[in-house]
Amino acid sequence: MSEKLGSTDSGEPLAIGVDIGGTAIKAAIVNTRGDLIETFHGPSPRSTAAVREFVDLALKRADHNACGIGIGCKGVIDAASSRVKSLPGDLHFLEGQLLSDVIAANGLPVCADNDARTALVAEVLWGAARGRRNVVMLTLGTGVGGAVLVDGSLLRGAGGAAGHLGHVTLDPKGELCICGNYGCLETHFSSRAIESAYWAHLHRAAPARLCVDSKGQVPDTASIFRAASEGDECARYVVDRALVHLGAALVSFLHAFDPEVFILGGNIAAAGPALIAPIQEQIARRTKILLGREVPIVFQKTVGYGGVAGAAGLVFLAQRLLAI
Ligand SMILES: [Zn+2]
Repeated sequence: MSEKLGSTDSGEPLAIGVDIGGTAIKAAIVNTRGDLIETFHGPSPRSTAAVREFVDLALKRADHNACGIGIGCKGVIDAASSRVKSLPGDLHFLEGQLLSDVIAANGLPVCADNDARTALVAEVLWGAARGRRNVVMLTLGTGVGGAVLVDGSLLRGAGGAAGHLGHVTLDPKGELCICGNYGCLETHFSSRAIESAYWAHLHRAAPARLCVDSKGQVPDTASIFRAASEGDECARYVVDRALVHLGAALVSFLHAFDPEVFILGGNIAAAGPALIAPIQEQIARRTKILLGREVPIVFQKTVGYGGVAGAAGLVFLAQRLLAI
């Protein structure tokens, strides 16, 4: 599925941004102002051929005007080579592959990085952290991604895994996480964690207004947040407890990275200020002594296609058409 959103000036640099996720694959033709000229959307691929076919479509539409392809992907991505070093779950077939080989780039340069990092790049170039050089971002969705910009450089670490903020330990005796650790932030505050906590309460027959539907589908995170605001006791308990953990994690990240601004992104962050208001005062109080100021906690501006735009941004940064 594609949608044409704008037109280009002739000679304007364009890049193709691609975001390979667990529920969808998206792409866009993007200019240096971060405008999405045309977007492409498909179901999450289950083979390298499906990835290649999807990117081919965007390449054809760009019609030789693109100066490169940027790819954001879940997992640990080696940005220097575009190799997918670790990727558990539905996209495991990409593990070990060079993303530049998976797509047929037609000679165009390819940049690749973790999808939370590309989302951060979009916010720094065009969004909520424009012009900032020290930024931390959490992407709150099915899982929890993270990315860190330190003095204008993306923090990648020795092996490319740095910034996986969803996998900091909040409870050493907590639940087993997808990463093999116990009690990670992701096991406390993610749509999977919130939905499974609500389901566990339903299973124990706790007082709750939502229920499992006729197809066996448990209530989703958006419904649980809504139910919490409407007085559902179980939803209120689950959301409050998840927020306490999110707040504790934010305090730790603020202490560790001392950013100018902290960005909350991803689908859950679409709840907006209602999400952060209950824990804002607590976070400010707990970080006041070390930081000496209240760090703004803001929301991702480019929800939906942020990772895609940021992936194109990687190309513009690599070719020095833009700078942080
Ligand atoms: Zn984990």
